Amino acid sequence: MRIDIITCFPEMFSSFFSYSIVRRAINSKKININIHNLRDYTLDKHKKIDDYAYGGSPGLVMMIEPIDRCIAAIKVDNDCQEVIYMAPDGEILTQSLSNELSLKDNIIILCGHYKGVDERVRTNLVTREVSIGDYVLSGGEIPACVLIDSIVRLIPGVLSNEVSALDDSFQDGFVAPPVYTRPREYKGMQVPDVLLSGDKKKIDKWLFEQSVERTKKRRPSLI
Ligand code: SAH
Repeated sequence: MRIDIITCFPEMFSSFFSYSIVRRAINSKKININIHNLRDYTLDKHKKIDDYAYGGSPGLVMMIEPIDRCIAAIKVDNDCQEVIYMAPDGEILTQSLSNELSLKDNIIILCGHYKGVDERVRTNLVTREVSIGDYVLSGGEIPACVLIDSIVRLIPGVLSNEVSALDDSFQDGFVAPPVYTRPREYKGMQVPDVLLSGDKKKIDKWLFEQSVERTKKRRPSLI
């Protein structure tokens, strides 16, 4: 999968892409990430990418021209199945949206900043808008990392079999059951006996019941 990110703060991504599963996906060429600095696409001699809002509202708005030029440059060698703008009022990110996006071959992710982007970008240049929740952050870079992480772990071969995404929360409509590791007892707190029983059938039944119980309690809307 190819992911092109459009941002005015490219350095914000470097540490995120250097660790854990995302790094593994990049190293094994399951994903190819290209970061584009929006300032490289402006024709303004001072590399300006934003300006004051028409109508006098306070705050800077990201201009359409550099964004349009950047998207066009990316599309030269790539059919871009989605151009996604990270937006607080976009479609809320869910596991099912991540599953859907993980099947694409190439996507562009546009990160806003300041007051956001000129409305004409939203109405004409993007195919989709995604929010990571009903709160406002200063920029689209962290939301883009959240989106990429949730997509990448679903691409076949990125997670090894023993940590398959299939038994994660929301994948099958339930939240995941509790997990325990050594020691068996810590300051009087025990690991449930069933997990130490070695009886695979009994363990699977217990895990499923725990999943259902937790879902009822924590995410009743899923049941
Ligand atoms: N004035 C806008 C907020 C702009 S925040 C409004 O009130 O809706 C600046 C940028 O941060 C946005 O352009 C967007 O790209 C990003 N952003 C902020 N919160 C976000 C969220 N919850 N989900 C996705 N992107 C978000």
